Amino acid sequence: MPNLMLTNYCNYKCSYCFGKDIMFPKNPRQTMSRETFNGLVEWVKKGPSDKVFHLMGGEPTLHPEIDYFVGRLLEEDMHITIFSNLATPGAVELAKKVANLPVRWVVNVNDPAKWNSVQREHITTALELLGRQASLTFNVMPDEDDNLWALEYTKKYHLSNSIKVGFLLPTYKQSNVALNDDEYTVVAAKVTRLALEAAKDNIHLDYECGIPTCAFTDEQLGILWRCGSYLHSGCQSRLDVTPEGVVIYCLPMATLGSKHFTEFESYHEAALWFERRWDPYRKLGRKVECATCNLHNSAACNAGCLAKNLIDCKNINL
Ligand code: SF4
Ligand code: SF4
Repeated sequence: MPNLMLTNYCNYKCSYCFGKDIMFPKNPRQTMSRETFNGLVEWVKKGPSDKVFHLMGGEPTLHPEIDYFVGRLLEEDMHITIFSNLATPGAVELAKKVANLPVRWVVNVNDPAKWNSVQREHITTALELLGRQASLTFNVMPDEDDNLWALEYTKKYHLSNSIKVGFLLPTYKQSNVALNDDEYTVVAAKVTRLALEAAKDNIHLDYECGIPTCAFTDEQLGILWRCGSYLHSGCQSRLDVTPEGVVIYCLPMATLGSKHFTEFESYHEAALWFERRWDPYRKLGRKVECATCNLHNSAACNAGCLAKNLIDCKNINL
């Protein structure tokens, strides 16, 4: 059920990374211990739970004990998804071991034109091993080309035919590079063009959280719907847990409130605690129009990313 940060460090240094506020080097390096991990597994088992564990970082394949963690979750019959950039020797080694086991991989990639030769070797070797167990995810940049490489890689390596795209979201502290307001429509147009091209190969798009529905025109939303890439706009996170066992709502909101997992009876109680506290703030919306927007009132749009919407709010009290 939770997203477990096995490490808070990464082999990449992406300017847009929305984990910056709790990641190395802004913070000391952290690596999840077996004790914390096993405590979290027992905590989640108290339920109610969907038996889903997301392993992420930083970069989770940099954790020297990731084999143990995956093995423990398989023994517990949990559904495992690993969020990795695959650009590490550890990713290739783990891919070899779990290639025929029920482990999903969501591979966060930057434009391949930016990979160096070593990164390329690791990523392509691991993709070859993983095939349909892996799907791509990336942020659509306002100033880059139309990302057709993602379709080529999905076809070449026989990956899952679902590609997850995201908009660059800011952390509450604005520590990272994120979209300006006027770039949302630029990215929306790129996403629509990519969805049209993807549909020709029976590939569809899925969406990261925080995308406001009104970034797209009605016509673009119709195109997405017709090509099987219907927009889901939401801001409701699986809770993240840091390597030291601290529960946060999500990485961009990491500095706004946290508690150690042992302070909650269960994952379910932790999720309720955050949702109840964020609920009044959600009503602020993203812009004035949200107050009268039918989508907001019907909860069909959560008004984009709460971390972004709270940037001008001070004295937030959880
Ligand atoms: S605040 Fe909401 S939309 Fe923004 S990153 Fe967190 S969960 Fe996603
Ligand atoms: S709720 Fe706000 S952000 Fe969402 S579609 Fe309506 S106006 Fe746009």
